[in-house]
This record gives sequence, C-alpha cells and structure tokens, in this order.
Amino acid sequence: MKVDVTELTIKSASDLLAKKQIKAKELTEAFLKRAYGLNKKLNCYITISADVAQKQAEKVDKLIADNQPVGPTLGIPIAVKDMFTTRGIKTTAASRVLENYMPVYDATVISRLKEANTIFIGKTNQDAWAHGASGENSDFGPTKNPYDLIRVPGGSSSGSAAALAASTCLAATGTDTGGSIRQPAAFCNLVGLKPTYGRVSRYGIIAMASSLDAIGHFTKTVYDNALILSATAGPDSFDATCVQGAASDYTQGIHGGVKGLKIGLPREYYENLDEKIKKTILTAVKKLEGLGAKIEEVSLPHTEYGVATYYIIQPSEVSANLARYDGIRFGRDRSKFGAEAKRRIILGTYALSAGYYDAFYLKAMKVRRLIREDFLKVFRGVDVTICPTSPTLPFCLGQKVNDPLAMYLSDIYTVTANLVGVPSLNIPCGFIGHLPVGMQIIGPDFSEKLLYQVGYAYEQETKWYERKPSLA
Ligand code: GLN
Repeated sequence: MKVDVTELTIKSASDLLAKKQIKAKELTEAFLKRAYGLNKKLNCYITISADVAQKQAEKVDKLIADNQPVGPTLGIPIAVKDMFTTRGIKTTAASRVLENYMPVYDATVISRLKEANTIFIGKTNQDAWAHGASGENSDFGPTKNPYDLIRVPGGSSSGSAAALAASTCLAATGTDTGGSIRQPAAFCNLVGLKPTYGRVSRYGIIAMASSLDAIGHFTKTVYDNALILSATAGPDSFDATCVQGAASDYTQGIHGGVKGLKIGLPREYYENLDEKIKKTILTAVKKLEGLGAKIEEVSLPHTEYGVATYYIIQPSEVSANLARYDGIRFGRDRSKFGAEAKRRIILGTYALSAGYYDAFYLKAMKVRRLIREDFLKVFRGVDVTICPTSPTLPFCLGQKVNDPLAMYLSDIYTVTANLVGVPSLNIPCGFIGHLPVGMQIIGPDFSEKLLYQVGYAYEQETKWYERKPSLA
C-alpha cells in the first residue's frame, strides 16, 4: 500500500500497522527518504540513524507477523533531540565539545521508547546545550522553519520541531528548561508538552539547569502526545527527582470536554501583547467558551520578574552542570564551548560567587517562591489558565542572534511554568498570514490529563494541524 506520510498521525499509522495494511519497513523507508531529502533544506538532523531504524522496523514486522500484542506506539518513527544519550548513536548536544561522543548507555526515556518498539529516525539539531530560543546557537548551523525557510523554528529543540512539522517522523522528543518544547511547537504548528517537574525521568539526558529541566514530546495532535507520554512517564529508580506512583494512561479522560471547566486568563500575560497574537488567542478562548468553559480574568502579579529570576537561576545551574566537561571525562576541552555557553558559565559563576550569592541567587530563589505562590493561589479558583506561548511570530534568522537580551525576552511567557514546576501544553491556535500561532494551557502540578482534555476539545473543533507547510 502506498501511503502519504505527511497525512499520518501516530494513531492513524498505528491502525494501518495493526491491520497489516502497511509494514513497518515501508513506513520507515518512507520517513527516512523524506528525512534525507529535507535535511538539506532544513538542517533538522545532526545524525540520521538509518541502520538502527531499519533493524527496529524488521523487529516490529516480525512481532506483527507473529501476532504479538501491539502497543499504540509500536512501529512509530520518532526523532530524538541530541540531548538524549543513545547507546551506539552519537550524542552531541549540538556542541563541538561532544562532537564525537558515543554514549555507552541509553537515557531512561530512550529505553522506554525502545521497549515500546518505536523507530529512531535520527538525532535532531538544537541550540548547543539547549541554550537558546531559535536554534541558531547550534555548533552545526541553524535549523530552518518549514513554514518559512528564512525564519527560525524556535528553540532550543529546533530540529525536533522542524523534523516533525516537515513530516520526517511522527513524534519527536524534547527538553524544556524555559520553553524549549512549547515555543518551537508554537513556531511550527505542533502540540508540545512540558510535563510537571519530575513526571518524566531525566536519567541519561544531558543536564542544562537541574531544578528547571523537564522532558516532553512534540506531536501533531493532542491524542498522539498523550500516547507518547504514556510510554515514557513514570517512576525511575535511576532518577531520584522522578515522582513515584504507577505509570499512567494519559489518553484516559481525553474526550471529557470543557463544559463547566473554569479557565483563567492571567491579566499580566495579555498586557503589551502584540495585537494580532492577542486577537488570535482570544478567538481560541471564545471557542472554548462556546464549548461550555467559563472564562475569567486572573492575576499573576510576580510575572514581571519571571525572566530576570530565570536568567539568574538557570545560568547558575548551567555553570555547575557544564563543569563536568573538563576534557578528561567526556569529549573535548573547554575551549570548544561556543559563545552562548561561555556567556552562561560566566553569568552563573558570578551569581554564585561569594559576596554576590545572596544578592542574586538567593534573592532569585525567594522570588521564584513568590511566583509559585501566585500560581497556587490562581489554581484555587480556576482549573487551568490560557496565555500566549511566544510574544512574537517566528522571527527571521539573524534577527536576534547578536542581541542576547532580545533573545532572552522570547522566553517571557514560558519560563514561569519551569520556575513553578507546573505542566504546560502548547497547542496550535491559528495562523497570522502563513505563520503559526500557539497558545499555552497551564494547569496545577500533575494535571497533564486535564491539559490534554482541554487541548483535545479545542483541537476537535479547529484541526489546525491539518495545515501543513508547503515543502517539496
Ligand atoms: N530559551 C530559553 C533559554 O535559552 C529556554 C531554553 C530551554 O528550555 N532549554 O534558556
């Protein structure tokens, strides 16, 4: 059977495999071909792991031929951000320091995706060490946005977002320390979840800022996202920050609708917002209101300190985590760090040094607590909040890369969820011209199912994911 891979979702591909209408080998070959073809244009993969993918596909076809029970992600082609260690597949974090690093073990998420019999198409490009909001800090050159090749796909998980938007895979993994899943998802018309801090194991994932890092996924639809989270979340004895409790099926309750749910619109997130983006998001909110949700204004008064707080805590932790790359244990020596990594190491070391620790780091930690208290208070009155994901549309390559402050302000709406620890879901909510817009649904700790429920209800009405980029 001939399939158009651009039309598939995890759900539809999985149905075709289960009904034996297509073989995993054919599916894999089709995605690999597209990945090789479009990578020249988009630069979304650092490594395409064709040999691994072909072996995995053979195994899947054998399981299906033997009528073994098939899971919902069996045979699904996935792209993996190059922050995830993959045994026998080069893992670079998009830095020259790790250019030839070959891990000897798998991250827990990778082991789980292997157990679920997914297929690894390749390792995706990103800002080096996940430092950035555009993909331009990669030591392997920037990734392009499939919706407009002169624009950035967002970052730091730039390659994962572009690879999926260009239909070279059916899902992609990401890391989100201050928005690196949600913002590229918004820029590439995708669903992207940053789960609650501790929901998904971080064992084997290159650490950026340990009190903020969360692991999640990009998919085309909300349902697909719930399927992949179900395969990867759950306790892990290798990661003490990972929450206990049995693994869960995140598709449960997804059809519940929004009737009677209370949605808060945080006033501070709509002040000074670009008028067109505001209008697009408020139109989406109206849609949810039409479906029975109750909308009310809420306030998160410490929002204005979010970026400043994040850019003290995050580089402090970065400076500690990057200390291990000393040229003895992993990869090359510290002279290979790029400009952005060096900037963050210097900022963080300064904020943690004697005499400045109390003035900067300790103070930032106190403000972080106040920001969390704002959220806890709001969630006593509403079920979820809705706000923009990015203050701008996908911007042009080169537009902000030489102005770190302008780049850092791209994170204004996303860093708070990481500072607070709560889950946040980006879903596509329309287009301005040919460029996609995303909105964030943020909920209390461990409310992933509720976020999917709201996102799914909206997606059923709008189906923005059907609007594909026009690529050859
Ligand atoms: N853009 C933010 C930063 O540069 C977030 C990065 C991330 O989430 N990894 O720090």
